[in-house]
Amino acid sequence: MRFTIITAFPDFFRDFLSTSIVGRAVKAGLFQVEAIDLRSFGKGAYRQIDDYAFGGGGMVLAPKPLKDALNAVSARTGEQRQKPFLICPTPQGALLTQETVETLYRQPHVVIVCGHYEGIDERFIEGEVDLEVSIGDCVLTGGEIPAMVVIDAVSRLIPGVVGKSGAVKEDSFYRGMLDHPHYTRPSSWEGRGVPEALLSGDAGDIDAWRRKEAVARTVTRRPDLLAKSDLGYYAGEVYVVIECGSARHVGEWAKLCESYGVSRLLLAMNSPEKREILRQDLGESSGVKLMPSLEYAVDWAAKKGKKGGRGKGKNLPLLVEVPNSEREGARHWLDVKRLVLEKGGPVLFYLFEDDRSAEKSDAIRLVPLQEGKLPFYGKLAALLDRFLGSR
Ligand code: SAM
Repeated sequence: MRFTIITAFPDFFRDFLSTSIVGRAVKAGLFQVEAIDLRSFGKGAYRQIDDYAFGGGGMVLAPKPLKDALNAVSARTGEQRQKPFLICPTPQGALLTQETVETLYRQPHVVIVCGHYEGIDERFIEGEVDLEVSIGDCVLTGGEIPAMVVIDAVSRLIPGVVGKSGAVKEDSFYRGMLDHPHYTRPSSWEGRGVPEALLSGDAGDIDAWRRKEAVARTVTRRPDLLAKSDLGYYAGEVYVVIECGSARHVGEWAKLCESYGVSRLLLAMNSPEKREILRQDLGESSGVKLMPSLEYAVDWAAKKGKKGGRGKGKNLPLLVEVPNSEREGARHWLDVKRLVLEKGGPVLFYLFEDDRSAEKSDAIRLVPLQEGKLPFYGKLAALLDRFLGSR
C-alpha cells in the first residue's frame, strides 16, 4: 500500500519515516510513503499557498495549489481513473478509531492532505475529500502530526511491520477491548511485585489472567467499548439452549452457532420420541446435544465447567433468558454483556422457538431484541452478533 502526504511542511516527516518500526518498514519496502511539498504548487515567486479568510480571521490554504498537487499525484501514479482515497485531518472530522484505521488499510493508496493555519478552503474539501478525521477533541497547529498518527496506526496492520505475527491482535481495540497490563524485569521494583500468574510459566494461567485483566480494565475505564467485544474470547464457554418442538431448522441454527464460536448448541425437547428421531436425523457428528429440558441443560453445562477450562472455580453458568416479549426486570443486552464479562464464563443463553417463556427465577432476562419483532432465526443471529460478534 502507499501513502502520499500533501503538506506545506514535508520536513516534519523526515525523521518519522526513517526511525524505529515505521522507518524499518519503509526501508524494507513493506509500504511506500511520499511527502509532497505543497509549496511547489504555490502561486508566483513566493509560492503562495494560502490567503486571508473571507470575512476576516487568519490564513486559509487555497484550493488551487491543493488541487494541482492532487492532479500531479494522480498523473504520476496513473490513477486518473481509480481515484486514491483522500483524507483530511481536521478537529471537525470523525474521531479516528481502529475501525477507520482498518478501513484505510484496505485502500491501495491513501492521500492525506494536511491543513494548517485556519484550515483548508471548504470548496476543496467538498469536491475532493473522502473522509475527514480527527485525532482527538483538541486543536493542533497543523495536520502533519495527525497524518503521522494515521500512517503509524495503519502501518501496524501491514504484515511484517510489527515483528511478532499476531501481536497486533493482542493490543487494545483489536478484539474490542483494552489490552492487559504489562511487566518486565525485575520482578520486584520499588516494593511492587509482578502478578503471580505471570511468573508461573503456565501458559493457561497467564492467558486467563491476561483476559481477566483486559476485561477489568475495559469495564472500569472504557465500558463504552463492551458493545464491540467478543464475549466468547474473554468470558470462556458460551452455550445456547433452544427449546423447540421439531427439528426442522436445527441445521441452520447449528451452523450459525458454530460460526460465532458457541461452545455447544443444546436442544431441549421434552418428547423422548422426537428426541430419538432428531438424534437419528442429526447423526453422531452434528455437535448438537439433545436434552429433555432446560434444567438438564443447565446441569450439564455446570458439570462441564467443573471439569476445568477457563471457567475454573466459577463453573455454574450464568443463565440468560432471551424472551419473546417484554418481562418484568428485563435488562438491556449491553448491561448483561458487562455482567457476563465481569463474572467470567460459562454463560448459557436460552431461547424458545415458540412464544413461551421460562419460569426460572434465577435467570437474567434480556429486553427483547428489536422489540421482539424478529423471526426466530433473526433473533438467534442478533443475539449471537451482539454477544459474540467481533467488531
Ligand atoms: N479552524 C480549525 C477549527 O477550529 O476546526 C482549526 C484549524 S487547525 C489550527 C489547523 C490544522 O491542524 C487543521 O486544518 C488540521 O489539518 C489540523 N488539526 C488540528 N487539530 C486537529 C485534530 N484534532 N485532528 C486532526 N487534525 C487536526
